Amino acid sequence: MTQHIDSDRLWQSLMQLAEVGSTPKGGVCRLALTDLDRQGRDLFVTWCRDAGLSVRVDAIGNIFARRDGSDPNRRAVAMGSHIDTQPTGGKFDGNFGVLAGLEVLRTLADAGIRTAAPLEVVVWTNEEGSRFVPVMMGSGVFSGAFSLNEVLSQQDLEGLTVADELDRIGYAGSQIPGEVPNGMFDAYFEAHIEQGPVLEAHDLSIGVVPGALGQRWYDIVVTGSEAHAGPTPMNQRHDALLAASKIVQRINQIGSDFGPHGRGTVGFMQVMPNSRNTIPGAVKFSVDLRALSDDVLAAMDLALKDCCATLMKNDPLLTIAANQVVYFKPCHFDHECIRLVRDAAETLGFPHMDVVSGAGHDAVYLSAVAPTAMIFVPCKNGISHNELEEVLQEHLAAGANVLLHAVLARAS
Ligand SMILES: [Zn+2]
Repeated sequence: MTQHIDSDRLWQSLMQLAEVGSTPKGGVCRLALTDLDRQGRDLFVTWCRDAGLSVRVDAIGNIFARRDGSDPNRRAVAMGSHIDTQPTGGKFDGNFGVLAGLEVLRTLADAGIRTAAPLEVVVWTNEEGSRFVPVMMGSGVFSGAFSLNEVLSQQDLEGLTVADELDRIGYAGSQIPGEVPNGMFDAYFEAHIEQGPVLEAHDLSIGVVPGALGQRWYDIVVTGSEAHAGPTPMNQRHDALLAASKIVQRINQIGSDFGPHGRGTVGFMQVMPNSRNTIPGAVKFSVDLRALSDDVLAAMDLALKDCCATLMKNDPLLTIAANQVVYFKPCHFDHECIRLVRDAAETLGFPHMDVVSGAGHDAVYLSAVAPTAMIFVPCKNGISHNELEEVLQEHLAAGANVLLHAVLARAS
């Protein structure tokens, strides 16, 4: 008989966790390492203890709930995600991956199934990066991308440190991040809402995720010269905003040119002096380029630099400084883990397609230290990081069932 998770129990757990930090518009505000984060963590830990799991916490506050396997020599197959949210976040981003993992373990306990490998569900600290930077803090420390001490000393806007806040809420564990009984995880599976519109547009319940886009972020400053909007003829201007607007157009074009996975976005802009009758003398803005391969990212970078060079050539009094401030490598998940996810969707009869992740996830850091794959489920209108985030119960159940079967296959 094919095992299935309990869809209603998963839904009720999600709704109960969403009450912690619930907002009037139906969303959740549960920022990392606040009292509400503590309440959410406590609820999860209580559920884990009730399910007979053993719980440990590491020094960056990641929570690991473990169900032993029958073979003491096997390494754990892990599942997980995060339960911190954006200030105006939803009920499902992150929370789904954690509670789907818990639901898998509850289902196995009910059915009396003991896997050969141990199974773990992980809550990664501060994935959102809203209160403390960097984003994906817990999984980043766990996988060695950040040093523990550097991250512990990070401060929020009020000057409170990660270390003090972890201590205050009772989640400064003693375990060294990255240390796992029997060595690093055998595999890591993360179920997550898609946060984009592709699955919904195709009317599919499961996304098989081959990897995540690499990212290059830039700060760009265009400097022209300020002058009076009236007396200065059109052919004698060095308008920084006009040049910036040409770069904005070009960034959009670059994203399209390098399809289907290319992305180019300008989301932040400051105009100096920002006065209606002064020709702008300087403009500062952000550029976010994404692609699935480093070669493509390099080509996009070149196209951006070309555009800036051409603009400066056409107006020698214009200067453009493009400074790369963030770089995330493109991520390719493990072929065998991806296959287990796809096979599970097939076996269970869920229509599926491959969907590349455009956003960062804890799974991206995990993929550096363990074979990793992700499972996406559609969310309404592709909306997330929004109180209106909505997911159908049947899609959540489908994602959790795929997680169950991928994990069973890996851990048997
Ligand atoms: Zn998330």
